[in-house]
Amino acid sequence: MRVLIVEDEQALLESLGRQFEAAGFVVDLARDGREALYYGEEFPLDVAIIDLGLPDISGMDVIARLRADGKSLPILVLTARGRWQDKVSGLEAGADDYLVKPFQPEELMARVKALVRRAGGWSSPVLRCPPVTLDMATQQVWVNDNEVTLTTYEYRSLEYLMLNAGKVVSKAELTEHLYADDDDRDSNVIEVFIGRLRRKLDPANAVHPLETLRGRGYRFRLQRAA
Ligand code: CA
Repeated sequence: MRVLIVEDEQALLESLGRQFEAAGFVVDLARDGREALYYGEEFPLDVAIIDLGLPDISGMDVIARLRADGKSLPILVLTARGRWQDKVSGLEAGADDYLVKPFQPEELMARVKALVRRAGGWSSPVLRCPPVTLDMATQQVWVNDNEVTLTTYEYRSLEYLMLNAGKVVSKAELTEHLYADDDDRDSNVIEVFIGRLRRKLDPANAVHPLETLRGRGYRFRLQRAA
């Protein structure tokens, strides 16, 4: 999952970046509105955290421009304490949620994960697509009742595919959501991850939940259970 964090306080920006990386996100960091718009244009983001008080373009204008460009990603705004007008304006500009500074990093993480989940049509952090169950909170995966051990990238691939269950995800799209731009993006590597993932998820039933569509990509079968 790819998150853009926009914040002009360098120390806060870096610490948030580390927390989201540790939680398995691909992280893009922007210190002002111009950088934010650059990342918004150039990268397929899954979610953005935008501080409203930025030195050049306001966070509000960044959101309005992203929305005007047709970007529908979930956006959480960070506002200074007591500026209730900012929350309203942020939501009116197209944000989906807000958090008042100072905040607990755990709350920000929980809210961001909830936004990503809801954007994929999931209400609970436990994604159930029988026979596979994935818990985004604990990063555990089960096939039927048996827990499956996945590597970091196998987990990230599966989480992304399950969040987008029912949709075809191309190899390029998967790569961009799993790797920062300075990492190796060899598409053969993705094939290896998916191959291993398919074997680990190998259900006894004949229909594998993870489909490979030749030349198009991958699709996790949509069989949501509440
Ligand atoms: Ca600020």
